[in-house]
Amino acid sequence: MSEGTLSTVGFVGLGNMGAPMAANLVEAGHRVVGFDLVPELLTAARENGIEAAASAAHAASDADVVVTMLPEGRHVLSLYREEGLLDAARPGTLFVDCSTIDVADARAVHQAAREAGHAMLDAPVSGGVVGAEAATLTFMAGGGKDQFTRAEPLLKAMGKKAVHCGDAGAGQAAKICNNMILGISMIAVSEAFVLGESLGLSHQALFDVASTASGQCWALSVNCPVPGPVPGSPANRDYRPGFAAPLMAKDLGLAANAVRAGGIDAEFGLLAAERYATFAAGDGDGRDFSAIVASIRDRTQRHSLVSESEEHSHDR
Ligand code: NAD
Repeated sequence: MSEGTLSTVGFVGLGNMGAPMAANLVEAGHRVVGFDLVPELLTAARENGIEAAASAAHAASDADVVVTMLPEGRHVLSLYREEGLLDAARPGTLFVDCSTIDVADARAVHQAAREAGHAMLDAPVSGGVVGAEAATLTFMAGGGKDQFTRAEPLLKAMGKKAVHCGDAGAGQAAKICNNMILGISMIAVSEAFVLGESLGLSHQALFDVASTASGQCWALSVNCPVPGPVPGSPANRDYRPGFAAPLMAKDLGLAANAVRAGGIDAEFGLLAAERYATFAAGDGDGRDFSAIVASIRDRTQRHSLVSESEEHSHDR
């Protein structure tokens, strides 16, 4: 497929991200045959011009390119290998997996695709549901240069930027490194706001300074964890995601696995993974990852109550 050529795309996984991404491919003029395990999602996809397939294998059988957008590595491995997605496709089909999964899982899928006579790219995304809907995602791709060139017109129909990061798994590597920065920086920004509160500093004053000073980062200036300074941030709608805390916990878990496997001295990344895992399993479930500011406030209050009661017991 060269630039400007329309293709038949099999699209498997029509959830929060996949549905708008597939709709943008239709918008760009491609024929899209979609499948999801949830029947209601297939019905909704039809309204966006996506043809509903009876199975994932059916969606792949007539495709030039197959895009997958699934929750985790185990879903991707199972679909590609055990559930016959690769076997169902015509030889030489290009597979593009946009899910965020482990680098090792991504490399295993590349190998399975190669052995089945197909081409493969791992191409996870950044930009969230808003970016998926507006076709402003950033893709980070791993695989051969030829595969990247072949996929580029499709990636550009779903996003604003596509970066070829290197060989198999390099897209996933870039994704977990980026999200490790994001997880750590969201905690740093949240801790700074809680510290500012205790020092009598208003949220707006801290924002006005840090967003134009050396503390500036996406977690502060776009996804600000306190309501007020950035009207569009999830904090202003009771932390409705956005980027849900469990997804951040998943991505930091992938980063932590890679950190441990590589023996990397990344103490803050490991701590961020631990904090987000606890938060996602509790109050963070269903909330934007910036809501972690509330758990930092709670921990602060609990600590100060504990130290107050310790002081009282010494006084007695
Ligand atoms: P989602 O759960 O909304 O969608 C995944 C879909 O895959 C579901 O509809 C599910 O039914 C379907 N599915 C699972 N197994 C299947 C199978 N065997 N056959 C067919 N369909 C199957 O998840 P999402 O929010 O769309 O995220 C998808 C991926 O994108 C994840 O890896 C996530 O980490 C990543 N991601 C999400 C965001 C975000 O903001 N939501 C941002 C960047 C990256």
